Amino acid sequence: MKIQFLGAAGEVTGSRHFVEVNVAGRMRHFLVDYGMFQGGREASDKNLELLPIDPKDLDFVVLTHAHIDHSGLLPRLCAQGFKGPIYCTQASYALLKILLPDSAHLQLADLERAERKAKLGKWRGEMPVVLYSQQQVESTLTQFVSLDYGKSLDIGPGMQLVFHNAGHILGSAIAEIHLKEDGAKKKRCVFSGDIGMKGKVLMPDPEQISQADVVVVESTYGDRLHRTLSDTEDELVEVIGNTMKAQGNVIIPAFAVGRTQEILFILIDLVRRGRLPHLTVWVDSPMATAATQLTERFFAQLDHQTQATMDWFKHHPSAIDLRFIADVEESKALNKIKGGAIIISASGMCDAGRIVHHLANNLPRAQNAIVITGFQAYGSLGRRLVDKVQKVRLFGEDVPVKASVHTIGGLSAHADQAGLLDWLRGFEVPPSNIFIVHGEPEAASVLAQCIREDLGWQNVVVPERMHTYSC
Ligand SMILES: [Zn+2]
Repeated sequence: MKIQFLGAAGEVTGSRHFVEVNVAGRMRHFLVDYGMFQGGREASDKNLELLPIDPKDLDFVVLTHAHIDHSGLLPRLCAQGFKGPIYCTQASYALLKILLPDSAHLQLADLERAERKAKLGKWRGEMPVVLYSQQQVESTLTQFVSLDYGKSLDIGPGMQLVFHNAGHILGSAIAEIHLKEDGAKKKRCVFSGDIGMKGKVLMPDPEQISQADVVVVESTYGDRLHRTLSDTEDELVEVIGNTMKAQGNVIIPAFAVGRTQEILFILIDLVRRGRLPHLTVWVDSPMATAATQLTERFFAQLDHQTQATMDWFKHHPSAIDLRFIADVEESKALNKIKGGAIIISASGMCDAGRIVHHLANNLPRAQNAIVITGFQAYGSLGRRLVDKVQKVRLFGEDVPVKASVHTIGGLSAHADQAGLLDWLRGFEVPPSNIFIVHGEPEAASVLAQCIREDLGWQNVVVPERMHTYSC
């Protein structure tokens, strides 16, 4: 069996692993994830790379979860001729029906913006590339086959697939693939996908697996530890409590899928425990509204503490005045609210979407607070706010930053170093091969070192991109 690491090797995006294995007298080829590379020009070039084989000859794809850096190039693969099944969980499929059309929409919007600028002679460099169309997304969505957690599915002669809950986002899975390789004993291959943080809200703890021959594990935070949930709660209580007392607004930029629901849940729970007073919360992002509805639909997959708190909220609906904004007019009406509101809106890095309007309105007043809850990439508006700039330029005007800006740590969808090691300890016998992916070089190599030293396992490899490894 061979694995070629086409992406997420020495970086955190572009997850795609290509497996070749001889089973039942024939060479099989499949992919685990087919994600988009994100960030910078290098990423756009990599998104255009071709597969090592003709997509027509690919047998199937196993998708660990819906995030675009794991799923975002699937429509391109299908447009290039892949006609086989894409296996994922039901909730992942439901999320993809929101995320993939949005990805196609954003690509087209980027191109149209660049074309407008080019006409005015204001565009330098290469034009953005549209990787696939809305029609190609529609057609791709017909190729999915969904599978419940814990159920084993025959995916070809001598091959079975089981998904385990990864506790990362709704529908996220650890993929366990059993292969009866010709001339060799049965192999159990475990692809971690992205592993969630134990004890975090919303998602249950990642399921541990006791046996594997080959393990491919993520390492996003392989070199660090997260702050605890109670520290995060204390920080939120302080900022929100003080801002409400001062009659200000709290603006929370948040990714529509996952982070928004997590924040909503924490706020409800803080009110339930009497740590915060009655709150008025506006969720101003159509995608966040859709993702929140999906979270309710898959209620049974949430962790028990979250279910109990949501049940409490059903019986105490007045504890939080929670409103979802549908149209742009309603969104604009929020501009009139001068104090006492919490507004959660996308995008998470403040670069686009309705959040920019809320920032333009709320940044100039000192009694308001901006609460940053996620990673802010270099160059983003969110990052400049975190870096305490005095003014920002929005919609062609200078806007003074008078509101206070707070960065709240601890809300990560990924396990930290201790969490990853804890998950790996679930394997009763050291796997024969461990590959560390989905991490910056430092994070991946520190985790590899910990696995060798703390767990005493050998054969730990940080694969190089495009290299092929036998196992
Ligand atoms: Zn992810």
